[in-house]
Amino acid sequence: MQVTFLGTGTSHGVPVIGCDCDVCRSPDPRNRRTRSSLYVQSADGNAALFDVGPEFRIQALSANLRRVDAVFLTHGHADHILGIDDLRRINELQGGAVPVWGSAESLAAVRRSFAYVFDPGPPGPTCPRIELFEFDSGRPIRVGGLSVTPLPCRHGSLDIHGFLVEADGGRVGYFPDCNGLPIATIERLRGIDLLILDGLRPEPHPTHFSLSESLAAMAVVGARRAYITHICHRLEHEATRRILPEGVGIPWDGLRIEVGRGLEAPSESG
Ligand SMILES: [Zn+2]
Ligand SMILES: [Zn+2]
Ligand SMILES: [Zn+2]
Repeated sequence: MQVTFLGTGTSHGVPVIGCDCDVCRSPDPRNRRTRSSLYVQSADGNAALFDVGPEFRIQALSANLRRVDAVFLTHGHADHILGIDDLRRINELQGGAVPVWGSAESLAAVRRSFAYVFDPGPPGPTCPRIELFEFDSGRPIRVGGLSVTPLPCRHGSLDIHGFLVEADGGRVGYFPDCNGLPIATIERLRGIDLLILDGLRPEPHPTHFSLSESLAAMAVVGARRAYITHICHRLEHEATRRILPEGVGIPWDGLRIEVGRGLEAPSESG
């Protein structure tokens, strides 16, 4: 399967509005981070989109994304759902509604934030056509050749979800907002090919793993390869890359990785 990092930034994005720090003023494009989102396509062409942030349109154009068979929401925070209106173009391309899977809380956030979709009133601007489906924690959902299993994680005081994605003989874990993995989730992720985990910044944070906490969690899981994500302007790309241990990377928006059958090991490109 092919994994594309559509966005790798925290809720503010990088650069931060009005910030003059070295990272926000950096000429290195890898220091420009849109809000976190992941796109996974299996060898049979089926595609799952994980979260739909406010820059979904820009991300879709950059990645030449044309197909979304299902959307999976980690939780209902604004930086993970506010791009849903731009699924209109996916409706046009595919000629149908897009299934959106989430917890009861995430789907309630979608109904509140996009009330006009569910109570359109008189004909006016076009609405995205989405069908909401509540998932059961731990129960896999099939999207063609992809199997997507929601697994619980902590996000400050909230219990939210990340996902185990299995396809083409490969396993990928995606937990962009997380500061704690329950034992049962760790057990499901053991020895995973690729773990993408919240690694906000060097300092501790009440709702996100710091870099060192993220690295410790990756080691506990025993991921064969791992990337941090949901990164803020406190982590400069090149300086961070140099200090990361073997097997752990710092991604950039647009990075594509192949995972699974036919490959000796996940390879980096893009
Ligand atoms: Zn977030
Ligand atoms: Zn800054
Ligand atoms: Zn969040």
